[in-house]
Amino acid sequence: MTPGADLVIVGGGFAGLAAARAAALRGLKVVLLEAKPALGTRLHTTGVFVREAADAYDIPTNLSRRVRKVRLYGPSRRSVDLDAPGYYFLTTDTAAILQWLGTEAERAGVEIRTDARFEGAERQDGLWTIRVGGEAITARYLLGADGARSATAKAVGLSANQRFLSGVERDYSDPGRLDPGFLHCFLDSRTAPGYIAWAAVSPRAAQVGLAVSHGRKPKIEAFAREAEALFGLDPADASERRAGLIPCGGVLKHWSAPGVMLVGDAAGMVSPLTGGGIHPALALGRRAGQAIADHVAAVGPAPEQAVAAELPNWMAKQALRGLMDAVPPNWMFELALSTAPMASLTRRIFFHRAARDRTDATSPAPLAAPRTLDEPI
Ligand SMILES: Cc1cc2nc3c(=O)[nH]c(=O)nc-3n(C[C@H](O)[C@H](O)[C@H](O)COP(=O)(O)OP(=O)(O)OC[C@H]3O[C@@H](n4cnc5c(N)ncnc54)[C@H](O)[C@@H]3O)c2cc1C
Repeated sequence: MTPGADLVIVGGGFAGLAAARAAALRGLKVVLLEAKPALGTRLHTTGVFVREAADAYDIPTNLSRRVRKVRLYGPSRRSVDLDAPGYYFLTTDTAAILQWLGTEAERAGVEIRTDARFEGAERQDGLWTIRVGGEAITARYLLGADGARSATAKAVGLSANQRFLSGVERDYSDPGRLDPGFLHCFLDSRTAPGYIAWAAVSPRAAQVGLAVSHGRKPKIEAFAREAEALFGLDPADASERRAGLIPCGGVLKHWSAPGVMLVGDAAGMVSPLTGGGIHPALALGRRAGQAIADHVAAVGPAPEQAVAAELPNWMAKQALRGLMDAVPPNWMFELALSTAPMASLTRRIFFHRAARDRTDATSPAPLAAPRTLDEPI
C-alpha cells in the first residue's frame, strides 16, 4: 500500500514548522496538521527569541526588534541593567513569524492543513493510520509537535509532561514610556512566585506578563496595573491575552517509539529554569525533520538518536528550577540585587551565564564580572 505521506506532523508551532520544512527539503512528502484555523492565531507565547535562535533561523528583521539589555527589578523596584557584548534578544511579531515559517515550509513542498485536529493514530505493518476530522491519512512516520499537552503522546502511549510553569500576558498597541532598549524583568515572589514578570516592546505592541511555578495560578491584574502606571500604558488599550503552560520537568523519559517521535514542548524540550522553548523547538524540530528524512530514505540511523545527540544538558537548570519552585522570599531577591555573591547567584538563576551590569542611579554597588546572557523567558 502506498502511504498518503512519508511524514505526518501534528502541530504548526515552531517545532512542527521547522521539522516540516527540513524534511520536505530532503525530499519527503510531508503533511502538517494544525488544529487552529490559521497559523499564528491564539498565541500562547511572548515570542522572545534568544540570539542563538535568531542566528540559527535567519528571522526577518521586519518581523522582529533587537533588544540588547535586560533591566532587572527587585521587589522594591530598584533595578540593575545587564548586557553582554554582542548579545541581543529579539522581540517579535510572533504571529507573522509563524505565518512566515509556514510559507517557507509550503515553498519547500509541505502540505499544511489548518482546522485539522489530530484525533488518534494506529500503526500496523510499519504504517501509521492517522485520524483527523473524520478522515484517515497513512504515513510512514509520525512526529508529535503538538505542544505541552500533546495528544500525539497520549495516542501512541509516550510520556506526558507533568510539571508546568503557567504564564499569562497582555498586549498594548501603544508602548507608552516603556523603554524599548530593555527587556524589563521583575524578580518578585509576590507578583510572580517561582518565575518572573516582564514587560517589553515588540514590533507591534508592548507586552506585559508573568509566569508562576507549578500548581499556582498566574494573576496578571495587579501587575498589569503597576506596569500601566510605571510605563504609561493605557489600560483601555490592552488587547489580546496570551496564556499557556510551559513544561518545566525536563525532557520526557519516553519521547520516541518505532515510527514516532515527539519534539519541542510535546517532548518537554524546554529549558526547565527559564522556560525558553522557542530555540529548542526550532533547532531540535529542524534536526528531527532532517533525521526522519534520512531514516525514511534508509540512509540514517533511528532518527531519535540524531535528536538525542543534540539535546542540551539541563541538569543544572533543573536543580535551579527546584530552588525557584520553593519561592525564595523577597528579602533574598532584594539582597541578590545588592551583594556581589548573591548577584552572581541571581544571574545564574536567570541567565545561565552572568552578564555585564550597569546599576541605575538608585541601585546598590556594582555587581559581578561580564559574561553573556541566556534566555530570560
Ligand atoms: C506565556 C508564555 C510565554 C512564553 N514566552 C516565551 C519566550 O518569550 N521565549 C521562548 O523561547 N519561549 C517562550 N515560551 C515557551 C514557548 O512558547 C514554547 O516552548 C514554544 O512555543 C514551543 O513550540 P512548539 O512548536 O513545541 O509548541 P507550540 O508552540 O505549543 O505549538 C504546538 C501547535 O500544535 C497545535 N496542536 C495542539 N494539539 C493539536 C492537535 N490535536 N491537532 C493538531 N494540532 C494541534 C497547537 O495549536 C499549536 O499550534 C512561552 C510560553 C508561554 C506559555
